[in-house]
Amino acid sequence: MKFLDQARVYIQSGAGGAGSVSFRREKNLEFGGPDGGNGGRGGDVIIECVDGLNTLIDYRYRQHFKAGTGTHGMGRQRSGPEGNDVVLTVPVGTQVFEEDNETMIADMTEVGQKVVLLEGGNGGFGNMHFKTSTNQSPRRANPGIEAVDKWIWLRLKLIADAGLVGLPNAGKSTFLSAVSAAKPKIADYPFTTLHPNLGVVKIGERDFVLADIPGLIEGAHEGAGIGDRFLGHIERTRSIVHLIDGTQEDVVGAYKTIRGELAAYGHGLDTKIEILALNKVDAISEEDREEKLAALRKASGGEVLAISAVSHLNTDKVLYKIIGTIDAAKKQLEDEANASLEEDWAP
Ligand code: GDP
Ligand code: MG
Repeated sequence: MKFLDQARVYIQSGAGGAGSVSFRREKNLEFGGPDGGNGGRGGDVIIECVDGLNTLIDYRYRQHFKAGTGTHGMGRQRSGPEGNDVVLTVPVGTQVFEEDNETMIADMTEVGQKVVLLEGGNGGFGNMHFKTSTNQSPRRANPGIEAVDKWIWLRLKLIADAGLVGLPNAGKSTFLSAVSAAKPKIADYPFTTLHPNLGVVKIGERDFVLADIPGLIEGAHEGAGIGDRFLGHIERTRSIVHLIDGTQEDVVGAYKTIRGELAAYGHGLDTKIEILALNKVDAISEEDREEKLAALRKASGGEVLAISAVSHLNTDKVLYKIIGTIDAAKKQLEDEANASLEEDWAP
């Protein structure tokens, strides 16, 4: 099992601005000296590791990153302004490869880490720079260094932030495809098709990875060294979305079966936060729905959402609940880190 999010991206540095050839002209001055300024430096292409991203999904929507060109130098000793850098932000764990997708250029392991992928071209010297004792009025200036460009690959191992569970037919696959990002329309950019058991979800400015856990477990049996690799993909999972098929009679029985399986599987799957949802409510009567919701509330002791994966009813509610658990878990980690700092502190 190898779940990778990867994107092929075009990057281009900024060309340097050309130096200027210019001479000072003033009414009362017969021989004005050279005053052509230097061209500005072109911008760099930088990659930066940031917090809050879990996937490379943004690179499905934008594949071209060009730094700004340096401005040409100007007369009256003015240098051209520098071109703007362009910054690609990526999550922790992203690796950057050359176009061959084998030669690693950068390994982004820490938030805040920055690597210059392409340097902007230097600006050319203006004629002011070439003035010497023997040549008082040089007519030459340098051009700026040209832009360079290339294609690179960004690769990220996907780790699920949330898991889907439920009996066969509960609607896990339907839910996953309903909420995960649409496949890119442009065929020119070869993105890996994610494994069907894993989906990249984007909601507002946030993104996260959702996994169909039974699907993952089944998939895990296909390869060797199964257990560990499967667990690697869910090690960060904070919450579990438990889907119940609303069209079946015994919703409480279905609920209990899955709770039993989670406990039997171990590895903390049964202690994760549970977001419980009655699915397929589009296909049942209101009366039936209320009855089943009440029964599940009683069995679980918590809230139960009424959703329809097919018609997207309340699916956003589930996603925002997942975001809530991701944020809460993060805050808890930060609080723990702060608490241990305070313990260490002694006057
Ligand atoms: P899984 O086994 O949990 O992955 O379930 P699937 O996603 O394969 O869904 C099983 C069946 O239920 C499929 O025929 C789906 O079309 C159907 N289904 C899933 N979600 C809904 C829903 O919200 N409403 C209705 N009416 N049918 C659904
Ligand atoms: Mg399925």
